[in-house]
Amino acid sequence: MDCCGTPPPPTPCCDPRQQGQPRPATSALPISPRFAHMVEHALAHARAAKAQGRPVVGILCEYTPREVILAAGGVPVCLCGGSAATIPAAEEELPANLCPLIKSTYGYELTGGNPFLELLDLVVAETTCDGKKKMYELMAERRPVHVLELPQKPDQPEAVTHWRAEVAKLAQLLRERFRVPLDDAALRGAIRTMERERDLRRRLAGLMEADAPPLSGRQLLDLKSLASGIPCDLAEYERLLAELPGKPGRRGVRVLLTGVPMPHGAERVLDLIEGSGGLVVAQENCTGVKPLQLRIDADAPDPLAAIADAYLHLPCAVMTKNSARLDLLRELAKRFRAECVIDLAWHACTTYEVESALVRRCCENDLHLPYLRLSTDYGSGDSARIQVRVEALFEQVAAR
Ligand code: SF4
Ligand code: SF4
Repeated sequence: MDCCGTPPPPTPCCDPRQQGQPRPATSALPISPRFAHMVEHALAHARAAKAQGRPVVGILCEYTPREVILAAGGVPVCLCGGSAATIPAAEEELPANLCPLIKSTYGYELTGGNPFLELLDLVVAETTCDGKKKMYELMAERRPVHVLELPQKPDQPEAVTHWRAEVAKLAQLLRERFRVPLDDAALRGAIRTMERERDLRRRLAGLMEADAPPLSGRQLLDLKSLASGIPCDLAEYERLLAELPGKPGRRGVRVLLTGVPMPHGAERVLDLIEGSGGLVVAQENCTGVKPLQLRIDADAPDPLAAIADAYLHLPCAVMTKNSARLDLLRELAKRFRAECVIDLAWHACTTYEVESALVRRCCENDLHLPYLRLSTDYGSGDSARIQVRVEALFEQVAAR
């Protein structure tokens, strides 16, 4: 079956709904038949590409320029783990006091529970947070991993020069490894594909501007695939953009969610917010609109440099300073008329945990919005406590 065919039954090993994680509220019900089977479609797409001799490349962060992989004929697949079930295996090697996203990802590697792993020709990673970059060394003992060295002061001219060189090295590695030309024409084609995908997803996210949006934050999050540039996904986005504006709307306390990404399977906090009367109108994180801010000119004189320059300016907490994140929060709060901000950090995520002090000040002193910081992991033991804190935040909003 190709990726556009009738959905097969869910793949138990990577579908969180098969792992005892309930989907609690109607706000979490799938809005797209196709994306209800996203994992299966992405897997079918990757398998079909592999059968045609195309490489499958694992990625673990939004700094990895998908365009370069697509231009090499490859399929970029996100490997970020969102399952608590793989964490005990990871803790045999990794410290328990480590971000669950890193442990879950590595746990998949150890248990072989992710069917994409057996398709991989290469993993492209980058030096972001300490936990991730050290985990990559362990992953590299088991499969080929190429690590991009990401500069951490993105506004410095030297950072731009360095990152362009790193992205150029990646392109050269892909050319040699997969024996493909990866020329400017291929890069321009890949930029157009990703620009179309980002544009469609930006427009879907824009539906949340309405007083009563036709979908919930969870439903919007579910319209994201593990693999990029799948033609049938783009067609489904078009269909939803035509259909959704006429649908009955949803109301709730308008929440701007910021902080760490919520990989597939790790949506519990979003469900708790929306199950408590909230409506997450904007997700300023890497599974939300943050990477959708990238705009790359396919006709730029040097397309590889244009790709590198755009990606370097993603406002992630691994950067110093990361004032662009606060600028984005200000813009999103205004555009989506947020009534409060919830800042999520995974346990032991130093970068986002520390940066939350700046986010709090921005929300309280500048945006004048109630702010709640949540720190949690992939377990569900603190769900009741989170719910109580979210409800208290919503009472604060109601009292204003
Ligand atoms: S939050 Fe930062 S480190 Fe994590 S995926 Fe996004 S850009 Fe990468
Ligand atoms: S959530 Fe934080 S600690 Fe975890 S991988 Fe991302 S940046 Fe690193």
